[in-house]
Parts: sequence; structure tokens; C-alpha cells
Amino acid sequence: MQREAADLDARLRHQPRANSDGSGWVGVDRGLSAFLVAATSDGAEVTRVSDPPKPLVGGMRKQRRLAMSVTRKLKGSNNRRKAAAQLGRHHARVANIRRHFLHEITTGLVKIHDRLVLEDLNTAGMLRNRRLARAISDAGWAEFARMITYKQGWRSGTVVLADRWFPSSRICSRCGIRTTELTLADRIFACGCGHRLDRDRNAAVNLAAWGEQYHRDFSRLGSPKHEPRSSMSADGKALAYTPVWVKPIRMKRKPTLSYESRTSEKDGASLPHRMGSTL
Ligand SMILES: [Zn+2]
Repeated sequence: MQREAADLDARLRHQPRANSDGSGWVGVDRGLSAFLVAATSDGAEVTRVSDPPKPLVGGMRKQRRLAMSVTRKLKGSNNRRKAAAQLGRHHARVANIRRHFLHEITTGLVKIHDRLVLEDLNTAGMLRNRRLARAISDAGWAEFARMITYKQGWRSGTVVLADRWFPSSRICSRCGIRTTELTLADRIFACGCGHRLDRDRNAAVNLAAWGEQYHRDFSRLGSPKHEPRSSMSADGKALAYTPVWVKPIRMKRKPTLSYESRTSEKDGASLPHRMGSTL
């Protein structure tokens, strides 16, 4: 991580944009048929990552099997200890594969695009289903958002979370009309205006457009004032609109106060022993 940060000299950072420049927004949607789909507001798909790699899916299956095998062994037995150790090793391996997968995607995205709009995690959670691959992507999405935020921070780029009530997958990216007919099974978004588009791509385009609109309001008013296209929940109640600017994290973290005091206490406590042994 440190090495990666050190590599990022000024040449690798994104060019600063003028406030009046509202372009360059890319929406990143957590797809239903892919891990993610990224697109610009004019409808161009820039990235598509299909489902998590096979070794990860296979690894999750084995992980479940090993976990079962631990619970079947007698508590306190040698066999149980061995099975637990095997599960632990396998768990570490699966975590490594997942991390590698996420690092590759996030680095690729922040290298090219300086303005990203992500779906709010809570909205993303609504799409959850029981498929194993989906479970993997559920676990991966929070980590994905975390990685993309700090990496974009290194490159002086921007990450914005769309309003959690913004129905990115239900809006037509051409005419802006919201449909209620879309089900989870529909892979193609079809609107009454004749617009037909891959469902995930349509959502990513909407997120990019959201970023543009948000930027316009932010640069004009100093704070975002625009209402999202729908500020109503399913039961018709008006909802508070709380967009989040994700600040880039600091590259070097100072130790917290509690950490410092704990170490000094420990040093203080161990000092007499050390003195005693050297004397
Ligand atoms: Zn339409």
C-alpha cells in the first residue's frame, strides 16, 4: 500500500478541473448480471466486470464445506482442531483472491476516471438475492467502495455517493420517466419512449447524470439544492435528501491518542522489570 502511494507522483494524479467544468462523471452501478458496470451520462459503457472470478466462487463453496466439517467434529478433539486450522488457511486464501480481484478493478477505474458516482450501499443491499455469486459481490461491494475512495484520494479525484433513494435502475436514461414495471428478472430496460438498454448500463448512465446534476448545483449554489428525480419512498412519504461527499482520506495516519497513551503506560509498567533484569 505504501509503495503504491509512493508511486503516485504529480504526473499520475488527475489534472485539476475548473469549477465550471461539469464533465467527466462516470456512474458505477453494481450490476445484477455483472459485478459492476460503469458508464458516462451520454450512454457510453466504459467498464464492465462480469461475475467474480471462478476461483473465488469455488473457494466460497469449499469454505462452506470446511466450516460444516468443523462443526461435525467433537468439541475439544484433535480432529476438530485440525479441521479448524484447515478452514482458517482456506479462509485466508479466499480473502486474498477477493482482495486481488477488487484491487485490480478499483485501480483500473481510478486511473482513467477522475469523477465517479457510486450507488449508496443501502440501495445496493436491496438487490440482494440468494445466489452465491451475489453473496460474494455483497461482501465485496463495501470493500470496493472503500478502496476506490482512498485510491481516488491519492489521485486527487472525486467519489460521490448518489442519494440512497435515487432509483437509478428504474429511470429511463433517455427521457427520465420512472418505470414501476421493472422486475429483478428483467435484464433489459425498456421504456415507453422506445428506449431499450441493458439494465445495468441504464443504471450506470443515470448515476453519471446524477453526478453531473449534483456538480451543477454544487458549483452554482455552493451546496446541492436540487431534488432527486424521486424524493418519495415506496409508501409515498417525502424523504430527507442527504447526499454525501466522500472526502479523500489522508495518506499518513497519525496514531490516535488512546494508542499513544496505551503504549506509554505499557512502557512505564515494564520499565522497572527491565531495569531490574539489567542491574
Ligand atoms: Zn424513456
